[in-house]
Amino acid sequence: MNSGMVTAAYIIAAIFFILSLAGLSNQETARRGNWFGIAGMTIAILATVASASVTSYSLLILMMVIGGGIGAVMARRVQMTEMPELVAILHSFVGLAAVLVGFATYFDPTLHLEGAEHTIHNVEIYLGILIGAVTFTGSVVAFGKLNGKIGSKPLMLPHRHMLNLGIAVLCVFLLFIFLIAGKGFGTLVLIVMTVLALVFGIHMVMAIGGADMPVVISMLNSYSGWAAAATGFMLSNDLLIIVGALVGSSGAILSYIMCRAMNRQFLSVIMGGFGAAPTAAVGDDGEEQGEAIPISADEVSQLLLDAEEVVIVPGYGMAVAHAQHPVSELTKALKDKGVNVRFAIHPVAGRMPGHMNVLLAEANVPYDLVLEMDEINDELSGIDVVIVIGANDIVNPAALDNPSSPIAGMPVLEVWNAKTVVVSKRSMATGYAGVENPLFFKENTRMLFGDAKDSVEAIRQSIR
Ligand code: NDP
Repeated sequence: MNSGMVTAAYIIAAIFFILSLAGLSNQETARRGNWFGIAGMTIAILATVASASVTSYSLLILMMVIGGGIGAVMARRVQMTEMPELVAILHSFVGLAAVLVGFATYFDPTLHLEGAEHTIHNVEIYLGILIGAVTFTGSVVAFGKLNGKIGSKPLMLPHRHMLNLGIAVLCVFLLFIFLIAGKGFGTLVLIVMTVLALVFGIHMVMAIGGADMPVVISMLNSYSGWAAAATGFMLSNDLLIIVGALVGSSGAILSYIMCRAMNRQFLSVIMGGFGAAPTAAVGDDGEEQGEAIPISADEVSQLLLDAEEVVIVPGYGMAVAHAQHPVSELTKALKDKGVNVRFAIHPVAGRMPGHMNVLLAEANVPYDLVLEMDEINDELSGIDVVIVIGANDIVNPAALDNPSSPIAGMPVLEVWNAKTVVVSKRSMATGYAGVENPLFFKENTRMLFGDAKDSVEAIRQSIR
């Protein structure tokens, strides 16, 4: 394929990627958005493989078969609850690829650039490796935090801000050394900077506490985009630059949305140190909480049948229990009995942006029943029964009442304003942020203990 055809294919692929992003911004068009993305990626891969820059097909095909095979097996095996971890580890691959491409480009014997071109190329290599290394280790730590192998509490090293600042200043200084150094010493500088960036990535994400992880996920998403864009500059690949910029900027916008949803300043999240919470059986302000009142599935079904307005608040526990299908069936059963059922979605519910929307769409819950937190919060005082299914942090009144709580200031679904709140979870355990929840001890709250799928199925049986 000549370079003109490759460029034309790249432009078509870029248009598909833009259509894909536009589609993914809305639940009703999300499936179409995915198809646009698949089409764009297929065109991009075919055009790249057929371009003149590819000289060895045997190695390329072997690598594509191995990589594609691993990807296919992983995608088939992954549970819906493991999706956030998968996304985090895939971000780490983008970072690692940027580092490896950076070094490969630096050692490329066929490149003979002079003067300003040489300097610009070296800056691209340096920045690509820097962003890639931070993305790589940051995403690996995020992967560990999301699957529970690394605790969600923030690591609070003494003088951690000075440590971060020191690494940042050193990396800038090393850039200037790298630009004037020859190949041999330049290699050493590049290796030192890579080690610093790898350490920085680990420390940055380790210092961020449980409740602030949504911002980290979206931020690493953005970094992986900039790492891809930097790789695009190194390889002079226009499509990679466009796609990297799309991912980088959409990740940055998502980080902003997540910060707004959690009422956090982006910089203060990145500086770390939030989310260190005591997990005692008392309130975060030290007050005794009183008794939680249990309820049975039969009693909940009676409450629901007596209600006119019901709101369901899904959380991470619904994903773990795979309760979305029974929840969808319960919704149908209640609708058939004339009860108005709607869903209230908190922006950081679950473990990835849009997690609950994906689960409810998979279970064919009609989109018009699914409302965002801002759309329904003011209405909750007029609701007869709110059922909280496997959610905890997103319905914690301490976020509003207790200024010393690690989640203080985070907007939450004010479910306690409803006439009755039923919380379906297995125990009195805390959620991801590790914060006690006074909701469970309120007068109008009833605790339905047990696995969310079993509990919802029991309620549905009882309604029949
Ligand atoms: P939480 O993690 O706060 O609470 C989930 C609750 O589900 C737990 O308290 C647990 O209680 C319960 N649960 C677990 N398994 C089951 C089960 N099988 N059946 C019934 N209940 C179960 O989830 P939320 O959705 O309320 O809040 C999300 C949290 O995750 C926030 O802190 C957010 O900041 C964080 N986060 C969000 C990300 C995002 O992008 N959305 C990314 C990373 C973190 P028990 O053990 O008693 O059953």
